[in-house]
Amino acid sequence: MKQYIAAQKFTFYIETYGCQMNSHDSEKIAGILTTLGYRPNPVKEDADLILFNTCCVRENAENKIFGNVGKMKQIKQKRPHLIVGVCGCMMQQAGVAERLGKMFPFVDLIFGTNNMQELPQMIWQILMEKGRSMCIRQEGVAEEEVEMLRTPPPLASVNIMQGCDNFCTYCIVPYVRGREHSRPIHAIVREIEQLMEQGYKEVMLLGQNVNSYGKGLENADFPTLLDAVARTGIERIRFMTSHPKDASMKMLEQMAKHDNICKQLHLPVQAGSTRILQEMNRKYTREQYLRLVEQIRREIPGISLSTDIMVGFPGETDSDFEETVSLMETVKYDAAFTFVYSPRKGTKAAQMPGQISEEVKQQRIMRLVALQAEHTYQSNLANVGKIEKILIEGQSTKDAKAVCGRTDGGKMVNLPGSMQLLGKMVTAEITEAKKTTLLGRILN
Ligand code: SF4
Repeated sequence: MKQYIAAQKFTFYIETYGCQMNSHDSEKIAGILTTLGYRPNPVKEDADLILFNTCCVRENAENKIFGNVGKMKQIKQKRPHLIVGVCGCMMQQAGVAERLGKMFPFVDLIFGTNNMQELPQMIWQILMEKGRSMCIRQEGVAEEEVEMLRTPPPLASVNIMQGCDNFCTYCIVPYVRGREHSRPIHAIVREIEQLMEQGYKEVMLLGQNVNSYGKGLENADFPTLLDAVARTGIERIRFMTSHPKDASMKMLEQMAKHDNICKQLHLPVQAGSTRILQEMNRKYTREQYLRLVEQIRREIPGISLSTDIMVGFPGETDSDFEETVSLMETVKYDAAFTFVYSPRKGTKAAQMPGQISEEVKQQRIMRLVALQAEHTYQSNLANVGKIEKILIEGQSTKDAKAVCGRTDGGKMVNLPGSMQLLGKMVTAEITEAKKTTLLGRILN
């Protein structure tokens, strides 16, 4: 098959939606396609295989994906040999793959998150028989140990686990990504050592709930994994996402102990009202969350904290919302991702009474966005004058004569310099705060 595909000089393009887990899945799919003889093509319209790696976490993402897949019809009419494929967690949702297949008869390839290993056979079947190939398996786990086509150094993502057992009432992930499954520590460490050999300097450990890593494995939990990864000597380690109910003292100890574990924690709170948190099945109260934040800041002074917050959950009253605002004012996050609740079919919350009007949701989200913008700016201002280590990760998007990179706490800094600095850890003084980024000058 490889000789055939390579001889045809076939190319591929992957359009990825959603979270970092999905981007990482796209790296795996790209790796499989490259092994088959395909080459990446930066121009979507020119590719011989166009694949949409979908996300179903937000409703508007789903609408956008259906719209973009629909646009492929014209390209397919002009170039009938083009393979159009759709994969990812949206395809795992009950009935969606069938609906998509009916709406868009020109889609050749449909597969779920647990079917990457079947991709070579599916593509071969399409190339040889010209029919549609569809494979969605609900059970099992996605292939982990595949050769990936990663974005070039210095940053890499490493999956440590898949799935989620938490069943927050608004969330579709446990239904489409299945039960939690952790990779063994030795496999993760080996992958990171290989990344270091290839010139990667920073890894992001990924999981839906990294704090419950290790279920089903012997002598493995997240702090033990953090310790093992830190001992590889990689320059920087970040991780996400932490569930507040499982964030442990042992994890904080590992973060404090190792210089190469970044002092940054993404700790989604979702809401500031205990009543709403219970309805969400988050398994912590407002008070427990605030105590945890105090403990984190005591153990790791100066740590950068970010969060996810949702407005408009069913039954959210004005006073519930005010509790979210007051929690934000108490914590003063360095960054926050704010969302409007949208019902996801198949989840408990979608059936709950008291759905909130779009108008109220919009008013609430605008207040949160404005409040967080102020907190982010204040947090940026507090960095001015500090000396920071910054890993240069690319060209600045603001200035052709500048590069950019992140501080240990995850703040983006633009600095005068050339791309020869790519992948280097530089020492810099922070000279100015912008609304969402910082400016600096390199000292060494
Ligand atoms: S922890 Fe909750 S929000 Fe996060 S993936 Fe699991 S169910 Fe979804």
